[in-house]
Amino acid sequence: MEFRHSDKALHWQERLQRFMDDKVLPRSAEYWAQVREDHTRQPQAMEEMKAQAREAGLWNMFLPGDHGAGLTNLEYAPLAEIMGRHLWSAEVFNCNAPDTGNMEVLHMYGSPEQQAQWLKPLMAGEIRSAFLMTEPAVASSDATNIETRIERDGDHYVINGRKWWSTNMGHPNVAITIVMGKTDTDAATHQQQSQILVPVNTPGFRVERMLSVFGYDERPIGHAEVVLDNVRVPVENLIAGEGRGFEIAQGRLGPGRIHHCMRTIGAAERALDLMVERLLSRTAFKKKIAEHSVWEQRVAEARINIEMCRLSVLKAAWMIDQGGAKNAKSEIAQIKVAAPRMALQIIDDAIQAFGGAGVSGDTPLAELYAGVRTLRLADGPDEVHNRTIARLEYAKHGGRGG
Ligand SMILES: Cc1cc2nc3c(=O)[nH]c(=O)nc-3n(C[C@H](O)[C@H](O)[C@H](O)COP(=O)(O)OP(=O)(O)OC[C@H]3O[C@@H](n4cnc5c(N)ncnc54)[C@H](O)[C@@H]3O)c2cc1C
Repeated sequence: MEFRHSDKALHWQERLQRFMDDKVLPRSAEYWAQVREDHTRQPQAMEEMKAQAREAGLWNMFLPGDHGAGLTNLEYAPLAEIMGRHLWSAEVFNCNAPDTGNMEVLHMYGSPEQQAQWLKPLMAGEIRSAFLMTEPAVASSDATNIETRIERDGDHYVINGRKWWSTNMGHPNVAITIVMGKTDTDAATHQQQSQILVPVNTPGFRVERMLSVFGYDERPIGHAEVVLDNVRVPVENLIAGEGRGFEIAQGRLGPGRIHHCMRTIGAAERALDLMVERLLSRTAFKKKIAEHSVWEQRVAEARINIEMCRLSVLKAAWMIDQGGAKNAKSEIAQIKVAAPRMALQIIDDAIQAFGGAGVSGDTPLAELYAGVRTLRLADGPDEVHNRTIARLEYAKHGGRGG
């Protein structure tokens, strides 16, 4: 067993870190000022950084094989961690969710025409995309509940439904969505759903409202409630074929969860850095706050838990590389539950270390907490992943498998 990253992986980490230090972090204040000025527009600073990242070859690093940067999931994982320290920075490198998952879907399941029309501009960072699965009316963590209908009518499909938590729908460059819905309610449970491409400018497609996260607006990315009212798209927009919605959703989420988890580890590292700097810089009751023993315990716990999670994520990434996401079902579910929980505890401790400043807008901690907290829900709540893990354990003893 080898615990050192390959020379290739280390080289990529060094290149990415240098680019972050030289080109991205110095422009963070400018980027956020532009967001605050008008969050319905794409900040100019983002477009300039994207052009530089592309020029530097730090682009589409998430996509394995020849179509992206040629990295494995194991090689990409530490890069996602570097981007995760500043969650907004993933877009600079065209490595942000949900575009990454949508690109993966089009790459794996899209027809040549779908790839030419939508994958190409997505990979060039010219447009953005959204994935519309979750619905307000039903418990969407059980995707068999999804009610949106995709009905064939001659050369078209007609789509009716209501979605929400459609991430990226606030983005001024969003052009295409992948919609999950039922094409055949009489088919076997897992063959009822399909996925279909719906451009946002199709008549009948409308954003009803934007949603906030703990009060944060989150634009220019943004999450929307969307209504699809007799939306007609050509039959060619269906991805892979009727009844393959679940299969596509599974294919999409394996690597995607690794990305989220690695970014979450980056967020935890940043919170730990901030916590330690603060504890060492302030004095209370005649000694550095860091010297009060409760903080030694919290800092040590943080380091232990980050290390455990990172190793688990790297192992899951390696397993996906070896045999695909199916090969790592339990491991992916384990880290999906463990990483946000771990990071939330560390961010919470960091907030505590900062006192009142920790919950203000003067540190990134409050917003970081809000963002990471959503990861216990997005891409499926903890309980659903635990269900998978438990069922795989039961299966080892003759019970029902996961
Ligand atoms: C910031 C953010 C971004 C998101 N982005 C997207 C997106 O881009 N596209 C998209 O389609 N969706 C997106 N989502 C939606 C997300 O995937 C769903 O919220 C999630 O899958 C849960 O579905 P639900 O909200 O319908 O909760 P429900 O299914 O109603 O579940 C509610 C709760 O029930 C409990 N529960 C469910 N199943 C079980 C079980 N088996 N055992 C025990 N308890 C259980 C859990 O505690 C769960 O949290 C996003 C969500 C957030 C918060």
